[in-house]
Amino acid sequence: MTILNRRRWLAGLGTAALGVARETAAAEVCAPRDGRLLLEDFRPESMLHVPETRVPRARFPVIDVHTHLTFTRREGKGVAVGDEIDFALAPGKALEVMDRKGVQAMVNLTGGTGRGLEQALAALDRAHPGRFYTCTEPSYGQFREARYPQLQADAIERAAKSGARGLKILKTLGLYLRERLTEGPLVPVDDRRFDPMWEACAAHQLPVFIHVSDPEAFFRPVDCRNERWDELGHHPDWSFHGRDFPSHESLLAARDRVFARHPKTRFVGLHVGHDAENLALVGAALDRFPNLDVEIGARIGELGRQPRVAARFFDRHQDRILFGTDAVPPPEGEKYPQQVFKDELYEIYDRFLETDDDYFDYAPAPVPPQGRWKIYGIKLSEGVLRKVYVDNASRVLRIGA
Ligand SMILES: [Zn+2]
Repeated sequence: MTILNRRRWLAGLGTAALGVARETAAAEVCAPRDGRLLLEDFRPESMLHVPETRVPRARFPVIDVHTHLTFTRREGKGVAVGDEIDFALAPGKALEVMDRKGVQAMVNLTGGTGRGLEQALAALDRAHPGRFYTCTEPSYGQFREARYPQLQADAIERAAKSGARGLKILKTLGLYLRERLTEGPLVPVDDRRFDPMWEACAAHQLPVFIHVSDPEAFFRPVDCRNERWDELGHHPDWSFHGRDFPSHESLLAARDRVFARHPKTRFVGLHVGHDAENLALVGAALDRFPNLDVEIGARIGELGRQPRVAARFFDRHQDRILFGTDAVPPPEGEKYPQQVFKDELYEIYDRFLETDDDYFDYAPAPVPPQGRWKIYGIKLSEGVLRKVYVDNASRVLRIGA
């Protein structure tokens, strides 16, 4: 693989806010050498003269159901263990962005377990009622114990009683968790040892925010045909091509068996139900599983490049789609501009949902970070917009119930 110049790319990111600085940064990389230009240096500027609508604030109050304000501290090979958590941002700083952008509440999905979960609930949910909702996660550190299925179900019950509002499943399940945590065969998504956990979520009315698999291109060879070449260059560990990884299709099939086996458990399929490239398939899953809703975080790049298909999808499934961004605070979030928690991120999401603008960036970055294309707004009707921004999430999270 040609080595992408990550430092230069990040430098470009830092200067993107300043037009003058951007010109200087661009001049240094834009001159062809011997008539050739590297793909990483190609930053075409659109010559289209089309309306550009700035949406400084969402039209309705927003619940962002997919954010990461805390993280479990100990993590190795994609598997987090232990109770210790770190705060990625002071709650007061998050509230400043939220108040400017009209974000009523954020769901902090990665709230961790045990004592760490307690800390997150205290600093977020209890200190700022109605502004933050924190979720718990599986205790993978106990996975090798024979009593794990029951221990995990008990942990869900305790988390619910402490005030956790859901369970977050990272793509750890299916792609990282192995029989001996990080060694041995991968544990399938529909492994029976998790059945008591899914049932406990139903019993305690905790929705499961689940991320299974990843973009289809992450399962393809990383070569000149891969539409996410740049992204996989910046994050080579996101490639699940080869080795012993299951196919995207078999991961989704295992997920479907979980949905079918636990009809009383409410699932929110993050990242547009794990297949934003194939909205017909996501629509079929929504039709087949009444216990499933979907969320749009980090996938407006996919939705917005198929605006007609996406608009029909939103119209048809308007009661089942939740607003989310997958926001990660800077500086960590700057590594993934499509989900960096800042004002511009919300302005882009709101522009996509509220306007019919043509051909604009899906992320605040000089090079589109998930693939070299731009997006088109889908201008939802007021009724659908309100459902997607706030009503559907209120129902799933039982806010006011
Ligand atoms: Zn996420």
